[in-house]
Amino acid sequence: MSSPTKQPSGFRQDGNTLVDSPVITGQYMRVVPLAQNPLREMDIAADSAAALDAPPEVVDHYKNLIDQAEKLFGAHHYREYHFVYSLSDHVAHFGLEHHESNDSRVDERGMVNPGKRLLFAGLLPHEYVHSWNGKYRRPADLSTPDYEKPMQTDLLWVYEGLTSYLGDLLTARSGIRTPEEARDQLASIAADLDHRSGRVWRNLQDTADGVPDMQGAPRQWDSWRRPLDYYDEDVLNWLWVDTIIRQQTQGKKSIDDFCHLFHGGQSGPPEVKAYTFDDVVNALNQVTAYDWRGFWTERLTNHGPGAPLGGVTNSGWKIVYDDTRSSLMKTREEERNTIDASYSIGLYLRDDGSLVDTIEGMTAAAAGIGPGMRVVAVNGRRFTADVLRDALKAGKSSSQPLELLVENTDYYKTYKLDYHGGEKYPHLVRDDSKPDMLSDIIKPR
Ligand SMILES: [Zn+2]
Repeated sequence: MSSPTKQPSGFRQDGNTLVDSPVITGQYMRVVPLAQNPLREMDIAADSAAALDAPPEVVDHYKNLIDQAEKLFGAHHYREYHFVYSLSDHVAHFGLEHHESNDSRVDERGMVNPGKRLLFAGLLPHEYVHSWNGKYRRPADLSTPDYEKPMQTDLLWVYEGLTSYLGDLLTARSGIRTPEEARDQLASIAADLDHRSGRVWRNLQDTADGVPDMQGAPRQWDSWRRPLDYYDEDVLNWLWVDTIIRQQTQGKKSIDDFCHLFHGGQSGPPEVKAYTFDDVVNALNQVTAYDWRGFWTERLTNHGPGAPLGGVTNSGWKIVYDDTRSSLMKTREEERNTIDASYSIGLYLRDDGSLVDTIEGMTAAAAGIGPGMRVVAVNGRRFTADVLRDALKAGKSSSQPLELLVENTDYYKTYKLDYHGGEKYPHLVRDDSKPDMLSDIIKPR
C-alpha cells in the first residue's frame, strides 16, 4: 500500500517527503547507475559481497527497464529515482513503492541465483511502475489529506491491478523475463484464477474493498475466501483492455496510448493527480470509444464461472494443461518447498505433506480433505513429492482409486479419490486462428 500525499505545501509536504524517502546502508553495498538526466540508480545492500556479484546482463536488463518505462509512459514524475534493494535472509521480504524510489527486499541470493531471479523477476518493474500509477496518478479515495483520515480501497484494481499488468509487460520488454517466461507467468495467473472457487460468492470489487481485513489473512482457504485478487485477476482484465483497444483501432493503438495519456504529460518533480472511476473510463474512451463503463462494471461484479480469459484468447493464445512443469512452476516448488497439485486433484501442499489449501469442487475437497490436514501416505507408501507425482502419473492408466492416508488432529483416515487425469500444469499455446497480439505486447519498443 501507499503512504498518502497531499499536494503541496509546508509541513505536510515535508512529512510526506520524509516518509517517502527510505535510506539504505550496509557493509556490503553496491551502487549501480542505470541512467542519467535524471539520475536513475540501484542502491543495493546485501548480507555478503558474493550476493552483489550479479552477472552483467542482470544490470543491463534493469537499464532496459528505465528505457522501456520511458517509452511506455512518455514522461516521468520524479527528480531522480532509486531502486533501494535489500538482499538479505534476515529481513522481511516485500516491495514498497515510493514516488522517487522503491524499498524492495528479497533473499540474499536474489540477484545471483537464477531460480531466485526468476521468482523475483517482476518485483522491481512492478514497484517502478507505481511511480506513475499509484504515486503520480492516485485514486482520489487514497489521496487523503492526512494520516488520520481512513483511505478507501475501491480503486485498487487500477492502483495495483494496472500496475501488475504494466509491471509484467515491462519485465518482458526489458528482458528481465524471456518471452517464454512471460507466457509462463501469464499461464500461471490465468490457471490460478480459473480455479478460484471463491469467485462464485465474492466478486473482484470486494477483494479490493475488503483489503483492510484480508491483507494479513493466512494462505489456508485462500481459494475459497479469495486472496488479494485485484492484483492477478486484473492482469487478465487489463490484458483484455489492451487487446480490445488494439481490435477497436485495427492495431493502431494499445495500452501504451492509454499510459501516455493517463500517466505521461510533462516530465518534472513529483506531483499527485487524483482520479476517479469516471476518469479511468473517460481516458479509455479518449483512446478508443467503447463501452468501458459496462466492461469494468461487469469485470468487477461478475461471479464467473472461471477466470476472465478474454484477453488471453484475444491475444492469440490459449491455456492448455499437460504433465510438464514450466521452469517457473518447477522453480517455485523447489524454492518454496511446496507441491502444486492444484490443477489435478485440487491440492496445494508443503513438502512435508501438510495441506496449505484445497480447491472447493475439485476431487480432494469433494472427498472431504481440507487445509490444516497432512498427507501421510499415498497408495500405501510414505508421502514425498515424488511419491505423489508418481501416483498421479500411474493413475492415468489404472482403474484403482488414488489412496491418500491423511492425518487430521491426531486422527488418521484413508481417502479414496477416483481421479485418473494425471499431473496437470498450465501453459500457453498459440491459437493459429488469431494474430499473435501477445508477442507484440511484450516485445521491446
Ligand atoms: Zn503494488
